Amino acid sequence: MAKPTFDTPKIRAYPIIPIIQEGSMEHSSPFVAKPDHQEALGFPGELVDNWQEKAIEKMGELLTKYRSLKVFLDSCVKCGACTDKCHYFQGTADPKNMPVARQDLLRNVYRRYFTVAGKYFPKLVGAQDLTEDVLDDWYKYFHQCSQCRRCSVFCPYGIDTAEISMAAREILDHVGKGQKYCNEIIGKVHKIGNNLGLPEPALVDTLEGLEEDVEEETGHTVRFPVDVQGADVLLITPSADFFAEPHIDGLIGYAKVFHEAGISWTLSSYASEAGNFGMFIGSYEQMQKISWRVRKIAMELGVKRIVVGECGHAWRVAYSFWNTLIGPFDFLDQNYPVPQHICEVTNDLIERGAIKLDKEANDDKVITYHDSCNVARGTRMGNIEGGQFIIPRAVIKSSVNHFVEMNPDTTYDQTYCCGGGGGLLTDDLLELRVKGALPRMEALKGVIDDQKVTHMAAICAICKSQFSKVMPFYDIPMDSIISVHQLVGDALIMGNSDK
Ligand code: SF4
Ligand code: SF4
Repeated sequence: MAKPTFDTPKIRAYPIIPIIQEGSMEHSSPFVAKPDHQEALGFPGELVDNWQEKAIEKMGELLTKYRSLKVFLDSCVKCGACTDKCHYFQGTADPKNMPVARQDLLRNVYRRYFTVAGKYFPKLVGAQDLTEDVLDDWYKYFHQCSQCRRCSVFCPYGIDTAEISMAAREILDHVGKGQKYCNEIIGKVHKIGNNLGLPEPALVDTLEGLEEDVEEETGHTVRFPVDVQGADVLLITPSADFFAEPHIDGLIGYAKVFHEAGISWTLSSYASEAGNFGMFIGSYEQMQKISWRVRKIAMELGVKRIVVGECGHAWRVAYSFWNTLIGPFDFLDQNYPVPQHICEVTNDLIERGAIKLDKEANDDKVITYHDSCNVARGTRMGNIEGGQFIIPRAVIKSSVNHFVEMNPDTTYDQTYCCGGGGGLLTDDLLELRVKGALPRMEALKGVIDDQKVTHMAAICAICKSQFSKVMPFYDIPMDSIISVHQLVGDALIMGNSDK
C-alpha cells in the first residue's frame, strides 16, 4: 500500500472538541461518476448546461415530495447542540463538517429560491445563490456525511442531516454530478444482482468451496444452497459475505445455524445482495428497483420467510422501507416477522433450546460490540423496544464468556459511525474514512487497554470492511473486527440435526 499523505489523528484520553481548522477537508472529493455509470441509472452523463435551473427545479420537487425536508430546512434555531457530535468533525476539525454547517450548505440555497425573505433580503437571512462554488461544496461535503443520524439524536428539533444529505446527492445526480462509487455499484446490482458484480457461476463455485471447507473443519455436511425452489427461508445477505474476511465467517455461522435448526433455506443468485445503495444517493426509484429483485425472487421460489443477513443499511431499507417499496408481503408466512433479521432467528432458536452453544469455544477472545448506526438509529428488531440493541447482544452473550461494553457515550443510540457508511467506503475517501473513525477507535482502544478486549463484533458489512481497513492506522490489528455469527458458528454444538 502506498504511504498515506495524511496524518492519522491522535487517540485522545478523553473526548475534546477540536480546534477549528478552516478548509482542512476542502481537498476531499470522491471520484465523479463517468457518463456510463450515470446513464445506466437514467441520470445525465455529465454536468448539464442548465444545471442551476435543473438543480433548483429538483429541489422544489423534493421539498414538495418530502415534507420533512422542508421542516428540517426551516426549523434550525442554530442552538449549536449538534456541532461537535459528528465523527467527521471530530476527526477533521473542518467546520463544514459540523452538522449544522453541512445543512446550511443546502439551507442557504433553499432560502434564496424558496423563501420570501431570501428572495428579497438574501443577506439578512444568509441566503445564497447557487453558484459553481456552492455546487462544488455540496459535492465535497455531502460526501463527507455518512448519513449516520448521530447528530439528530442531540438536536432538540430532531433535524436529520442524513435526509438533507440524501436530498443534496439526489439533486447532484439529476444535474449530472453523481458519485462514481455508489452509481457504479448500483449499476452492477441491476445488471448482475450484487454490488461486487459476482456472476452466478462464481457465486455457486464459492459456495461449493465453502461447503467443502466446513465439512473438512467440522465433519458435518453443511449446505450453502442457491435457488432452491420451495425452501422455507430466503436469505438476503450482503455480497461481501460471499468472499471476504471477516464477513464470510458470518455466512458460515448463518449456514451452521440453519443446518442445526433443520431450517430449509436458500440464497438467490438473482437477488444476491442485501445492500441497497439507492438509499445513499437518496433515490426512491433506485431503492425500489433494487428491492424489487427480492420480492420477485421470493415469489418465484415460493419461500415462506425472508431473513436478512448482517448488513446495517440493508436492514434499515428492509425494516423501514420494504413494505412501502415492495409490499405487501401477504404471500409469506404471517407467523414470522416480515422481514426478519438473522439475529432474531438465531436468538429465538437459542431461547427455545433448538440450538446449543458452547461458550468456551470462544474463550480465547474478549468481545465488545459496535452498534452499527443504521441498525441503532434507523430500525428495531424483534417485538421488544430496543430490540436492535438487546438481540445482537443476547446472541453474543450466548456465544462467549467474556463480553464488555465500550464507553456508553459511544454505544446504543449514541453509537458512532465506523467512518465508511453512507456510500463513503471507497479508497478515494480514505483520509476521510481514517479520520472519521477516530471516536470509535478511541472507545475501542479504551476497552483494549483497560479490559483486554481482543475483538469487536458487528452486524454490518460496511462496518466490517471499514474497520479492517482503518484499524491498522490506529495500531489495532485488522482482524480485530469479527462477525457476530462467526462467534455463533464457532460456539455452535454441531451434530444434533444429524441424528
Ligand atoms: S448524519 Fe452523521 S455523518 Fe452526517 S452530519 Fe450527522 S453525525 Fe455527521
Ligand atoms: S442541534 Fe438542531 S437546531 Fe441546533 S444547530 Fe444543530 S440542527 Fe440546528
